[in-house]
Amino acid sequence: MILPIRIYGDPLLRKTLHPLEDWSLVIPYIPDMIATMYDDDGIGLSANQAGLPHRFFVIGESAFKDGRGDSVFINPEILESSEEIWEYEEGCLSVPGIRETVLRPREIRVRYVSEKGEAREEVFTDLAARVFQHELDHLNGIFFVDRISPLRRSRLRKQLKRLEESQS
Ligand code: ZN
Repeated sequence: MILPIRIYGDPLLRKTLHPLEDWSLVIPYIPDMIATMYDDDGIGLSANQAGLPHRFFVIGESAFKDGRGDSVFINPEILESSEEIWEYEEGCLSVPGIRETVLRPREIRVRYVSEKGEAREEVFTDLAARVFQHELDHLNGIFFVDRISPLRRSRLRKQLKRLEESQS
């Protein structure tokens, strides 16, 4: 089932979601989350974007270099970030029509629980690290447009306001 995507202005996208005590709670939602991500041509999707108040996200296989498939990250955390920063143009299914260059660490060491309930620690670089950080921001109520310069953001003010108003 394709889940409706919440759009900028929706209060669920400004919430910090609490870690799940029972990771298995998210299992039934995984197929719909992945189908919804691909339906909208996304490379990642956080649960709150799909209306689910749970601390997890999915990332599509094309973000990874190691051949793993579409992946689920439950209670994700960043343990360490590289000093090296890189710029990349980001978009977001919840902020349609806007793309902006965002600076983020190129490499991160992360911890999360997999969809099998295993606690894992690993290092992601480049696109995988980029998407992980973007999706983790969502779980903390942060949008990529919160991470651009005040000047760039002020240029987007009207467009963001329009999105917000379409939600009320
Ligand atoms: Zn997003």
